[in-house]
Amino acid sequence: MTLTNRAIDKLKGVGPKKRALYEKMGITTTDDLLSYFPAAYLDYRNPKCIKQLKAGEDAITCGKVVLHKAEGKKYRKNSFRIVLEDCGARLEVFFFNSFYLYNTIKLGDYCHVYGRVKNFRGKITMTNPMIIDEQSLKQGIMPVYRTAKGISQAEMRKNIKMLLEETEFVEYLPEEIISKNNLCPSEYTFYNLHFPKDREHYKKARYRRIYEDLLIMQLGMEQMKQPRGQGIKMLSDVDEYLDLLPFQLTDAQKKVLGDIESDMSSDKAMNRLVQGDVGSGKTAVAAAAMYKAVKSGYQAAMMAPTEILAKQHFESLKENYEKLGISVCLLTGGMKTAERRDALNGIKSGKYQIVIGTHALIQKDVEYHNIGLVITDEQHRFGVNQRMRLGAKGENPHILVMTATPIPRTLAVILYGDLDMSLIDALPAGRKKIITEKVSERDRKSMYLSLIDEIKEGRQVYVVAPLIEESESMEGVKSTDVLYDELSELYGDKIKIAVVHGAMKQEEKDNLMDCFGKGEISILIATSVIEVGIDVPNATVMVIENAERFGLAQLHQLRGRVGRGEHLSKCFIINRSSGNVAKERMDIMCKSSDGFFIAEKDLQLRGPGEIFGIRQHGIPDECLMNAVKHIDILEKAQKDAKFCGNNINAALREKVDKMFNGNAGVSL
Ligand code: ADP
Ligand code: MG
Repeated sequence: MTLTNRAIDKLKGVGPKKRALYEKMGITTTDDLLSYFPAAYLDYRNPKCIKQLKAGEDAITCGKVVLHKAEGKKYRKNSFRIVLEDCGARLEVFFFNSFYLYNTIKLGDYCHVYGRVKNFRGKITMTNPMIIDEQSLKQGIMPVYRTAKGISQAEMRKNIKMLLEETEFVEYLPEEIISKNNLCPSEYTFYNLHFPKDREHYKKARYRRIYEDLLIMQLGMEQMKQPRGQGIKMLSDVDEYLDLLPFQLTDAQKKVLGDIESDMSSDKAMNRLVQGDVGSGKTAVAAAAMYKAVKSGYQAAMMAPTEILAKQHFESLKENYEKLGISVCLLTGGMKTAERRDALNGIKSGKYQIVIGTHALIQKDVEYHNIGLVITDEQHRFGVNQRMRLGAKGENPHILVMTATPIPRTLAVILYGDLDMSLIDALPAGRKKIITEKVSERDRKSMYLSLIDEIKEGRQVYVVAPLIEESESMEGVKSTDVLYDELSELYGDKIKIAVVHGAMKQEEKDNLMDCFGKGEISILIATSVIEVGIDVPNATVMVIENAERFGLAQLHQLRGRVGRGEHLSKCFIINRSSGNVAKERMDIMCKSSDGFFIAEKDLQLRGPGEIFGIRQHGIPDECLMNAVKHIDILEKAQKDAKFCGNNINAALREKVDKMFNGNAGVSL
């Protein structure tokens, strides 16, 4: 990035001790330090009058020192007090353990201080404020950094200031892009982000920084795109498969299947994202696509994010395929060696035409006979890398990605800009709205008791909790273990209750899910392992404990486990947070059953990083947030990234690699 980049301990004043602290902050080189931008700024240019100060605020103020007194034994040693006066108003300032400052302040001087204003027995006071020296006042705007304990603000500022002066900057953005977007030069940007000359300079620098981050992100996304190129033409129709389904596809499903079929029968390899709210019937669409591939003479694979889900897909799809003479196999990590060997051999020889599984599908030792279609279900659980690894298993297979978490358009473009998109925008007819209610701690027991009637009629209940065991560090958070005890006591032994969570052995989990599916268990207490995909139409009630601990999109997914059958379904959300955001989130859940609306709200309330497991991309939160906030800049960056393609200099490439966890471009 700069010509003078070097290890951080080569900077004057940074020895082994400070180096270790800097490393903790993720800073190992001087360029890292340059890119470590302030978390906030202090504006020293317009101090407040003492009269204007309000208790509770952080403020800069100034006054004449009218009293200046060591406090002796009244306070602890080393302490003193001054009084500042300005326009007749007075501010009492206490300095504890800072006697070394005593002589820097003189009676009759004007003194600037910065600190938290308090009201102490009717007097306006500050305790241990920062004394602002002449030089800082001249600087005007001061950066405030997030520092590790052991590095002070003053030190950080000093280090960065010195570094800025020593650095030989080079421009790493292409000339054309700079002039086209009217960006300020790199040196200007670094100076004015750390020590802004004034608001105008800062704004220019900040604009470049946002643009640059978005450009880097888009360059990374560009690199990840697989040149899809020539595809395998698949011309067989899917009518026989559709005839076997117990229902007619909805118009929305038909439209999306139409998109898929036209991709698969063209000469370009398909690269399509199908979004559809929970329960919109993505599986049937995917299954028909797999049938098309097989009938055209190729293998098809479908990858699910959990073993439970993979098995469920396998069980539910096998029957129809076998009726059509198609052999299907399951491949998961938890399989026994002999089973696994059989699966691997059959996949290689082409005996198995359809493979359903988990991450196991993309392990090195899996060889396909002639894979022509690759589907990943619940895409947001997989990283881009994984999607591509599965794609790389064949010649140039068609790729179909399905996600149940509706991703707001704005974000979808960023994350899946390389995919064509289809939306299943309606649910099958006859779906009843899931009634969602907030339940307070007081009504919790009566809510649980009210479920007895439903259970007696044969319906089943999910209870979701955030934790497995009672944990001391999370007071007030229900665990599945505690719930099991509570509910067993409440319901007695006539009602069968079971617990399932991610830490259990696969076999145990499968067993329990099986029993639940058959109706042998009435209440299933679970962690969010049941979040994706599970389909038990007879389950009509979902209780979510500590709902505040789940994201909105996740709550919507969880809720989607009920409302799958003919019976009216309910979802009870128990919120143990008194915070306003939590309340607002619960209200949204009660009001809306529109996954897109909910996802959009989640984005506003919590920021993008928390949602959709986007973390796996490695893109910093701030950058995603900027992408959402500054669509106009994003669009420019996107165009420019396309324009640059792979033709970027080493410094810029390094930045791209860094943003994508150092493994952007994923070499397959
Ligand atoms: P998701 O999109 O969440 O993966 P699924 O594919 O699991 O949804 O479908 C949810 C339920 O709806 C399943 O029980 C499935 O059999 C049923 N289903 C799918 N398509 C239709 C349809 N067109 N009409 C009626 N039921 C359907
Ligand atoms: Mg599904």
